[in-house]
Amino acid sequence: MTLREFAYLALGSNLGDRAEHLAAARAALAALPATRLVAASTVEETAPLGGMDQPTYCNQMVLLETGLEPRALLAACQAIERSRGRARAERWGARTLDLDIVRYGRRQIADPDLIIPHPELPNRDFWIRELAELEAHER
Ligand code: ADP
Ligand code: MG
Repeated sequence: MTLREFAYLALGSNLGDRAEHLAAARAALAALPATRLVAASTVEETAPLGGMDQPTYCNQMVLLETGLEPRALLAACQAIERSRGRARAERWGARTLDLDIVRYGRRQIADPDLIIPHPELPNRDFWIRELAELEAHER
């Protein structure tokens, strides 16, 4: 198994200062142990999913090179979400910061609490666009 892998993370925010939440997330991810922030996509504004009445999202994808295993990366993402005041309310609900692992190298994981590649990837055009934008930086 290779030590360092390329991981794609989706950042989303639709509460408070959205650009500030995304910037703080990028900084926190770049500061993780054994991790390098390789590139960040352009920020896109998208309508909320799930048919709920809530503000529009700012979305961005980042490419990390990391020695953290997927589960450690997930725990780190959840700690960063909490540090931005993320309250776990209903699924799909409004949030200050959402961090999803979209892809982790070529790994396939199907645990109850961690699915990689992220199952929503085929359904989200903006994720597909952002991922394509970053792929050239994988080296
Ligand atoms: P969502 O991102 O679906 O809007 P949450 O951010 O509240 O909702 O995440 C719900 C759960 O999704 C998390 O507790 C986490 O365990 C699980 N999960 C499964 N696969 C992933 C993944 N690839 N990235 C992030 N979370 C994931
Ligand atoms: Mg999430």
